[in-house]
Amino acid sequence: MSYQIAIDGPAGAGKSTIAKAVAKELSFVYVDTGAMYRAMALLCIREGLDKTDEEAVSSSCEKAVVEIKYQDGAQVVFLNGENVNGLIRTQEVGDMASAISVYGRVREKLVRLQQELAKKVDVVMDGRDIASCVLPDADLKIYLDADVSVRAKRRYDELVAKGEKPCLTRIEEEVKERDYRDMHRDISPLVRVPEAMLVDSSYMTIEEVKKCIIDAFKGKTK
Ligand code: C5P
Repeated sequence: MSYQIAIDGPAGAGKSTIAKAVAKELSFVYVDTGAMYRAMALLCIREGLDKTDEEAVSSSCEKAVVEIKYQDGAQVVFLNGENVNGLIRTQEVGDMASAISVYGRVREKLVRLQQELAKKVDVVMDGRDIASCVLPDADLKIYLDADVSVRAKRRYDELVAKGEKPCLTRIEEEVKERDYRDMHRDISPLVRVPEAMLVDSSYMTIEEVKKCIIDAFKGKTK
C-alpha cells in the first residue's frame, strides 16, 4: 500500500508550492491535478470549442491522450504526445479549465488517471476534489485556505514578476469568480471534508505550512 496525502483548496492558497515542498521532504511524488484540467482546457482553446458546449468539450476531452511523466523529479504533462507544461499557466487556460471541469465526462477521465497514479507510488496530490472524490481513503487530508485578498495579492505579485501590469481589484474579482464556480458546481465541488485539517496560509510562511503538514502526517502514520 502506498501513502497518500490529499491537499485541496481554492486558487492561490499555495497548494502547489506546499505540495511540492512536502513531497520533496518525504520523497513522495507530487501530482498536480490542476495541470491535467489545464491540458484539457488548452485542447479546447486550440480546437476553438465553446466552453458551454458540453457535448463538444466532453467528446474532444475523451479522445485526447493526457499523460503524466516525471523528468528530474518534476511533473510534465503531455497532451497527445506534446509536452504542454510551458503553455498551461496562463489566465486564459485557467479560466477555461475552471469552465470545463464542471463536466462529468471530463472529470471521470482525469479522476481515473489520478487514481491510477496514486496506486503505484506514495503521492502528495493537490486539487479541488482529492479528499472528497479522488483519494477518499488518503492517509492525511488537508484543506489549505487563505484570505481572498492575500490570494489575489500573491497572483498580482506573480504577474508583476513576469513584467506584466495587472490590476489588483480585477484580479481579486477573478479569484472570487473562480472560487464561486469551483465551490458551486454540481459535480465534485470544492469542499472541506469534515476529516480534513484546515490550514490557513494567509499569514504563515511556506516553511511553517510545510512543517505543519509533515508533523500531521507523521502523527497519523506513527
Ligand atoms: O489548481 P489550478 O488553478 O491549476 O486548477 C485549474 C482549474 O481546474 C480549477 O479552477 C478547477 O476548476 C479545476 N480543477 C478541478 N479539480 C481538480 C483540480 C483542478 O476541478 N482536482
